[in-house]
Amino acid sequence: MVLTTEALRLGGFDFFKLEDRLNDEQRALRDQIRDFVHNEVHPKINPYWEKAEFPWEIAEAMKTLPIWGGGIKGYGCAGLDTLSAGLVAFEIAKGDGSIGTFYGVHSGLAMGSIGRLGSEEQKQRWLPSMAKLEKIGAFGLTEPEHGSDAVGLETTAHRDGDSYILNGAKRWIGNASIADILIIWARDDDGALGGFIIENPNETEGVTIENIWGKISKRAVLNADITLENVKVPVENRLEKVRSFRDIALVLEFGRYGVGWEAAGVATALYEFAREYALQRHQFGKPIASFQLIQQKIVEMATEVSLMQLMCYRAAELLSEGYITPGLVSMMKYNNAKKGRYVAQLARETLGGNGILIENHIARLMLDAEVIYTYEGTNEVNMLILGRELTGINAIMG
Ligand SMILES: Cc1cc2nc3c(=O)[nH]c(=O)nc-3n(C[C@H](O)[C@H](O)[C@H](O)COP(=O)(O)OP(=O)(O)OC[C@H]3O[C@@H](n4cnc5c(N)ncnc54)[C@H](O)[C@@H]3O)c2cc1C
Repeated sequence: MVLTTEALRLGGFDFFKLEDRLNDEQRALRDQIRDFVHNEVHPKINPYWEKAEFPWEIAEAMKTLPIWGGGIKGYGCAGLDTLSAGLVAFEIAKGDGSIGTFYGVHSGLAMGSIGRLGSEEQKQRWLPSMAKLEKIGAFGLTEPEHGSDAVGLETTAHRDGDSYILNGAKRWIGNASIADILIIWARDDDGALGGFIIENPNETEGVTIENIWGKISKRAVLNADITLENVKVPVENRLEKVRSFRDIALVLEFGRYGVGWEAAGVATALYEFAREYALQRHQFGKPIASFQLIQQKIVEMATEVSLMQLMCYRAAELLSEGYITPGLVSMMKYNNAKKGRYVAQLARETLGGNGILIENHIARLMLDAEVIYTYEGTNEVNMLILGRELTGINAIMG
C-alpha cells in the first residue's frame, strides 16, 4: 500500500493547541511553507534523494519564499521573529531533511555569520544577493581531524600584505560544491579565530572541493571535503567582528535552536504519515489502527512529538525575550534529536514492509533523523554542554 498524495497533505498535528498562539502573519507564513512542501517538495524529492542529486528545481521554487536570512533585519532579509524562524525550520523539515539542511546552512549558518559578525560594509556587500538566493552560502568549520573539537581546528590564515593565505582542510561542508560564498574558519598568525570569505570557491585557485558520496542520510544535499592550498583571500573578506570561538557561539546556538525545530518537524511528519497509514491499512479485516499494539505506537509517537513541540514553542518565547543559554538550546536539540530517532523507528514499524520503501516518505525521513542526531553538535556533546550548565563542571574534555 502506498499513501496517496492527498493523504500526505500534512494537517499539522498540534495536540496542545500551540498554534493558537500564532498571530495572523505567523499563520500565513506557516501555511505558505506548508503549501510549498505539499506542492513542490513531497511530489518531487524522492528521485533526487535516491540519485543523491541536489534538487535545483525545488531550490529555484524556494526563491519566492519570504524566509531568507531568518531573523536578520534589512539587506533584503526576511527579519523573522524567533517563533516564525522556528516554524519555517519545522515546516520545511516536515517535507525533507536535505532541503532543511540546504536552507539551514545557507540562511542560518552562512548568512547568520555575516549578519551577526560582519561589518556594515560586509553585510551590504553579501547579504542582499544571498537573500534573493542569487548567491548560495556555505559554512566551513569542521575538519577531517576536528569534528566535536572544532575548537582545535588547524586551518591557518597567514597575513601577507593585503591578503590572507589559507591552508588546511575541511570536511562535511554543506552546499560547498554549489556555493558562491564559502566561509572558512581558520586561525591567523596570532592564533585568533577568523571567518574568511572565499567568493566563487569552485573557481578559486588552490581550492579543491569534492562531494562526499555514499551518504545514507540527507542524500539530496551536497556535503563536501575541501582542501585549501595557498588560497589568497583579500583582507576585507575577513569577518570583522570575530576573534574567538566565543564570538561564533551565538551563530551556533541559533543553529541548534533551528535544528531543535527541525527534529520536531521531521518527527511530526513521521507521526502524521504513520497514523494515516494505520487508519488506511487493513489486516484481519480491520484497519491496523484498531489493534492495541499499533495504538501504543501511535500514542508513544504523539506524546513524544507533543513534548518536542512544547519545548520548541517555549524556547521561541524565551529567545524572543532575549533569554538564551547554551544549555537551553542544547537541551532542546538533545531531546528532540534523540526522540526524533525513536519516533522514526515507531513510524517505520507501523508501516511494516512498506515502511522501508522510499515512496512512502517514512524511510527518507527516518534516515534524515539519523544525522540530525549528529550535526550542530553531536547529541553527546550537547548533553555535556547541558551537563556543564547544570553542574558547573565541564566534562567535555573528559
Ligand atoms: C550531513 C552533515 C552535514 C554537515 N554540515 C556541516 C557544515 O555545513 N559545516 C560544518 O562545518 N560541519 C558540518 N558537519 C559536521 C558536523 O558538525 C560534525 O559531523 C559533528 O560536529 C561531529 O563531528 P564528527 O563527525 O567528526 O564526529 P566526532 O567528533 O569524531 O565524534 C565521534 C563520536 O565521539 C563522540 N565524542 C566526541 N567528543 C566527545 C566528548 N568530549 N565526550 C563524549 N563523546 C564525544 C561524538 O559524540 C560521536 O559520538 C556536517 C556533518 C554531517 C554528517
